[in-house]
Amino acid sequence: MSALNPKRTVAELKELRALTGDADGAQRVAFTSTWLKAREWLRKQVEGLPLEIHNDAAGNTWFTLRGESEKCLLIGGHIDSVPNGGWLDGCLNVIAGVEILRRINAHYSGKPPVTVRLVDWADEEGARFGKSLFGSSACSGNLDMNEARGLVDKQGIKLPDALKNVGIDFERVKDSHKELKNAAAYLELHIEQGPVLLDLDLPLGAVLGTFGVERHAITFHGQAAHSGSTPMNRRKDAFLAAAKMSPYIYQLAEQHSGVCTIGSCTTRPGIVTSVVEECRITLDQRHLDAAKLATMLAEAKAASEKFAKEGNVKASWERLWQIAPRPFNDDLINLCDESIRETCGKSHRLPSGPLHDAAEVAAAGVPTVMMFVQSLHGISHNKIEDTKEDHLELCVTALDKLAGKVMGWIRR
Ligand SMILES: [Zn+2]
Repeated sequence: MSALNPKRTVAELKELRALTGDADGAQRVAFTSTWLKAREWLRKQVEGLPLEIHNDAAGNTWFTLRGESEKCLLIGGHIDSVPNGGWLDGCLNVIAGVEILRRINAHYSGKPPVTVRLVDWADEEGARFGKSLFGSSACSGNLDMNEARGLVDKQGIKLPDALKNVGIDFERVKDSHKELKNAAAYLELHIEQGPVLLDLDLPLGAVLGTFGVERHAITFHGQAAHSGSTPMNRRKDAFLAAAKMSPYIYQLAEQHSGVCTIGSCTTRPGIVTSVVEECRITLDQRHLDAAKLATMLAEAKAASEKFAKEGNVKASWERLWQIAPRPFNDDLINLCDESIRETCGKSHRLPSGPLHDAAEVAAAGVPTVMMFVQSLHGISHNKIEDTKEDHLELCVTALDKLAGKVMGWIRR
């Protein structure tokens, strides 16, 4: 019986880095030859295990270890990366999953109590076509086909044509949904990509869910006027109203324990000698709680009206994008917490700011949880992305414990 070997996961991560990275970082952009090379490498790592392996209609790769029950424990990740990406984002989840398949296979002599499936999602990052979670949203059924059909990369290649190149028929990608039949639970390990666990000096955390997002453009409409001849009290300064929003959103985020960002500000006419006629800012608000997210949005809207009125200008809003919060399963969060405590003594529960494939699986109604491992520098999507090797080993151990507990949970 072979035991879990977390050191092997670290060695395999380094091997993949050497194979598919360069001086600028990881280069496993989805649907490229480097990505295909990484996937081929992944298949080699599981040689010798009694797995059924196939690519589904959306290009997600499934590794299935049949168990006594048809009910499935899913473990997911993505081997694709952003260009010049880090060595852990996405592939850690998949490679740790391989180690857990090995352990479960050995422990149950090839026949675990429930079926265990590892999935490598296709194009989580959306680096090439600007649309993330491609494979998992096709699988969940949430992919907007009309929008996706029109996506074009920098070379002018359409998404359907790029998919054809790797043997995927775009019009059939949602057939991937049938893979979720019998799915009883979904687990995903990921680097945190933020500084929360680092600041708490904790290696691992249980993830409560992914934030809901409200993304809007707010335009203030005033009047252009000469910057020398117009007295201050006679101005309709669109920028003044927009500027007041900046400190206000910090208050709002603090009051409701969410996050708010004004990420862009453009002015017209945008010259040094004119009062601003039109000022457009973008607002991104995120929260794990749908009601609190709605309140943050309503309060931002009310404030924009108030600031507009004070400055004798008008405000108009345009929704750019929105997604609901995706809370994870309470039982699985508890089991995740327990696995972490058994592994390293202390756990922490935290929401995820970034979206992950897990959000799509949760949206499809499969009980889901994620586990985060600390990120050094709190940074990812960058070649400096890193995690201590002993933390990497701990996360493999904790994920394995969690997989064991969740198999028991599925049986109950
Ligand atoms: Zn990722």
